[in-house]
Amino acid sequence: MEVILADYLGFCYGVKRAIKIARENAAPDGSACTLGPIIHNPQMVERLKEEGVGTISSLDDMKRGRVIIRSHGVGPETYARAEAMGLECVDATCPHVKKAQLSAKELAEEGRFVVIVGEKEHPEVQSIVQWAGGSVAVVETAAEAAAVLSVPKLGIVSQTTFSGRRFREIVSALLDKSRDIRVMRTICTATDQRQHAARELASKVDVMIVIGGKNSANTTRLAQLCAKTCRTYHIETAEELQLAWFDNIEKIGITAGASTPDWIIKEVYKKCQRI
Ligand code: SF4
Repeated sequence: MEVILADYLGFCYGVKRAIKIARENAAPDGSACTLGPIIHNPQMVERLKEEGVGTISSLDDMKRGRVIIRSHGVGPETYARAEAMGLECVDATCPHVKKAQLSAKELAEEGRFVVIVGEKEHPEVQSIVQWAGGSVAVVETAAEAAAVLSVPKLGIVSQTTFSGRRFREIVSALLDKSRDIRVMRTICTATDQRQHAARELASKVDVMIVIGGKNSANTTRLAQLCAKTCRTYHIETAEELQLAWFDNIEKIGITAGASTPDWIIKEVYKKCQRI
């Protein structure tokens, strides 16, 4: 059995950076917490907790100490509220997300109706909505884009982890909505690289294993892309691998979302090699 790793997989620059910042700001007395899980990976969240970085779901859960803003970022009100509460704010927002947030702000300041191409429930998108202010819509499909009303000035920005192909489709569907359109393509290359490498590998193997949190949007998208080409299983840890998946096959491909720790990828790789 041959086991092949995708050319690009696992932690991206923004996640590595956020985890490094969180570790540098750990507090064994429990006074350092990330606002929401640092990344969409329960195993990593647990490991950080042991190292002195807890998780809160709301600023109301914290009376004192250090709040760490995760790579997905937050809206401007959260910084203001943390400051008003006397909390120390450590910003680990990924610089690419920051760029998307500030692009939305800039488009809004130019008097444009801002369309954010992304998933409505994703925390990053919710933060971009807040930076854009009031005149904003979130669009996830070309059909939703077609329903956007015509406006004098339109600005388009994307969730950093959105698919480049779907972004183009949605932008095309928005082109007749205004005579004055400014598009800021804020998709980060980490996503494109991982998606491209996963698609390429899926075309060469019999089974793809996609590793990452079940609640991770970018991992789920990798699994969806691979499933179009070959049989695909989305797992969080090596324990979930099942022997029956690998009957009569020769090649296993492995990829992992941008929030999947290296140690989990290694465990899955080793276990697959032993099959
Ligand atoms: S996927 Fe891109 S935008 Fe998101 S955290 Fe990673 S580097 Fe930053």
